[in-house]
Parts: sequence; C-alpha cells; structure tokens
Amino acid sequence: MNTSVSTAKGPDPHSQEFVTAVKSWVDQHFSAIVTELRQLVTYQSLAFDGYDRAPLEASAEAVATLFHNLGFEHVQQLTETSDDGDQSGPAIIARAPARTNKPTVLLYAHHDVQPVGDLEAWQTDPWVATEKSGRLYGRGTADDKAGIMVHHAAIQALHDLLGADHGLGLTVFIEGEEEVGSPFFAQFLRKHRKLLAADTIIVADSANWSVDTPALTTSLRGLLDGVIEVTVTEHPVHSGLFGGPVLDANTILSRIIANLHTADGDLAIRGLDQTRWAEVVYDEKEYRQQIGAVEGLELAGSGSLADRLWNKPALNIIGIDTTSIKESSNSIVHTASTKFSLRLGPGMDPQHAMDALIAHIQDTATFGATVTVHPGEQGRPFVVDATSEATTMMKHALSDAWGVEAIETGLGGSIPFVADLVEAFPEASILLTGIEDPDTRAHSPNESLDLSVLRHAIEAEILLLARMAVEHVE
Ligand SMILES: [Zn+2]
Repeated sequence: MNTSVSTAKGPDPHSQEFVTAVKSWVDQHFSAIVTELRQLVTYQSLAFDGYDRAPLEASAEAVATLFHNLGFEHVQQLTETSDDGDQSGPAIIARAPARTNKPTVLLYAHHDVQPVGDLEAWQTDPWVATEKSGRLYGRGTADDKAGIMVHHAAIQALHDLLGADHGLGLTVFIEGEEEVGSPFFAQFLRKHRKLLAADTIIVADSANWSVDTPALTTSLRGLLDGVIEVTVTEHPVHSGLFGGPVLDANTILSRIIANLHTADGDLAIRGLDQTRWAEVVYDEKEYRQQIGAVEGLELAGSGSLADRLWNKPALNIIGIDTTSIKESSNSIVHTASTKFSLRLGPGMDPQHAMDALIAHIQDTATFGATVTVHPGEQGRPFVVDATSEATTMMKHALSDAWGVEAIETGLGGSIPFVADLVEAFPEASILLTGIEDPDTRAHSPNESLDLSVLRHAIEAEILLLARMAVEHVE
C-alpha cells in the first residue's frame, strides 16, 4: 500500500498550526466533554451475572444517542444470544463508510464497568463523577467511559476542523461486556465482520506511562490456566497408624509447586524463551508500593523489572482445594488439587507452554502418586507491529499532543478480545492507546481519571484521524 499526503486544499494536519488548532478546539469543548462523561458515569452498567440489566441497557442507549447526535446515520444496538439463551451485553455500532481511496478506522471502547466492591472504601459516590485536584473520581471515569468520550470528541473535532466531507471511514464499536471477558466478542466479529472491517483499529482502553508521558501499549501477555490434581491413596487413612511410608497429597502437591521455580524465583519450565526486551525502566520502589509489598520482601526472578512484568512468563498458584484447617484431623490427606495461572510473554505459544509444563511436572519426583493436569483456558500473547505506519503515526500524534516523546510499553495482563480482533482482522493495525495513568486504580475503589490525560488523549486521536483522513490509499 502506498500513501501520499494531500495538502492541495484544507489545513495540513501535519503542521504545527494544526496542532495548535486542535488544542484550542479541545480547550473550547472540554467542559462539555466532561459533562457528557459525568452523565455516562451515572449508569451502573454492570454486565456481571446477578446485577440488574436495566442500567446496562440504559447506558447503551445513552452511548447510542451520543453518536447519533454526531450525525452518524447508522447507529445500531446489537445484542447476541447464545444457544442456551445467554445474552451478551448490549454493544453499539456507529458507522460512516469511507469514501473511495480513504482508509477505515475502527474505534473501540467499552461502556460496561467493574462492580464497585467495598463501598466503605470509596471516598466519593462511585456513580457520581466528582472532581478533586484535577482528577475525576468514580467508577468508569477512566475504564472505559473516558475511552468513549475520546472517540466521540475526536470525531466531532474531525468534522469541525476538516469539514464533514473528510471521507475517512469511521466505525465506532462500544462493547457492553468487556469486564466479564467479552464472551460474545468472537461471535460479534463473525456475524458482523463486514460492519467492523477496518484498516486500523484503535482500542482506547489501556494506560499511559505517567500523567506526563504518553504510552502506546505494544504487547500483552498471553494466559493459560489449569488444575493439577494429586492422589496418593484411595481414601484418607489414619496418620498415626499408617503415616511415615506415605507422603500425603498436600506434601506431594507442594513439591510439585515448589519445583516450578528455581531457587532464585525464575520459572523453571524449559522452552519458554523471552523474545522481547523492554526499553523502559520500571521503578522498583513504585512497584513495591503498587503491590503493597511487606517490609523485607525480595523480588523473584532475573532480568529487568519491566521484562519480568511484560516479556517473561509468570506462574502463580491461584487456588488450592484440600482439607481446610477447620476440617483437618489426624489423617493423611489422600487427594489435593491446585489451580495455576501462567502468563506468557510475546512469542510464546500457549499449547507449547502447556506441553512444557506437563513435561516438567512429570519430571518432578512425586513418589509415583497419580498426578493429572487438567488444562483450562488459553489465550495468545499479543505484539503490535512496531514498524507499521499506523504505529509510527500514533506515536507521533501522542508526542505532539503531550509535548513529550511517546514510549512503548507492555501490559502484563491479557485483554481477551484483542486476540479475537487479531484473528478476525489479521491485516489490520491494532493500536492500544490509553486514558489511564498509574494512579487510576481501574477496578478498585476510588477509580479516577486525570483530566489532563483525557485532554491529551483526545488531542492525539484528533491528530491521528486527521492525518489518516488526508492520506490517499492507492
Ligand atoms: Zn477496560
């Protein structure tokens, strides 16, 4: 694909004057944007089982109205239903098809949110967006209702600054079930493939390096989990009469677990090699603070902290089923199981990792106990093509908006729908941008959005879209 820049008529989005025009547009509209965001925060849009669905539906309705008011002719609310009657969260699609020779951009965000958790821990009402020292507090202020407003404002600005006939194809997709793991996303993509197809996909649901430094998230770890089950005897037996020649299931299981890491705390499973190295230094003090590390805790593993968080595999034991202390008696526990969660760095294949894990467990001395591994979920890691034109354009736009060079970061977590997007549209460039910063506390009490980050995120998206709109795809 060849691209060339047209400056024959209209403003040149690459010029410094245009950057200035974008900033003053955002200045003028910012309080109205924040008012719309406050309105969205009032909806208790929870897609989790057991919550009232009415606010989720009302939230979708409000999002549809927002985009309808921008002049989109095609605004649809979509709800999928599974064979056994389960319903997806309501998603909104708004479309303005591209003019010939212009690219199409898919703008993703989600309008559902995490439950508020312990209300006592909130300093403000989670459903009333409250401004305090430059931050807007409330559930969904950042994750991800701010993402919706970034797209909304950017489209409005594009019309105002370039004219309604800019010709760039725009598809807005606002999901209603991201926080429950996007169970219907793959189905959405299959069914509405044509509606959603795009050259570039902007996912505004990630984090910046800091309030002052923008980041483009260029890798996500993959994830696989499963259960390891150990059985030593057919039934529990008296530990006084029979104990000694037999190790109980807890002990055998503990040996398996302990053998998963080296003495230094690196993962001992062979064949999961690091393929990517972070460019930034993740501050250890900040990390300790973020996790609430106890005094004297030594960090495990080797390599830079950023690599241990983003690029290396990480295994955690996330649950154990065995006799509880309350139920314990002087008998030998005959069976025990544990659930593990294994995060995979870029380039690591989930099935290969599962095979390597099973082989490693088989090599562990377990005294001939029956050891079974039950594989669970698998998700592939994600890596952005750092050399793609879209990636370069996004980094420039971020740098122009913040006035500071944008950096590439990874994310230790996995975003299930991103893997679905890659599979459905392997040719598209996927850009993970963010409205969060290290103090956002998404998913926790006192979630907040830094308003200067919102401002810059909008500016960056306007710049990117405007620059794409003047491209001619040949
Ligand atoms: Zn989110």
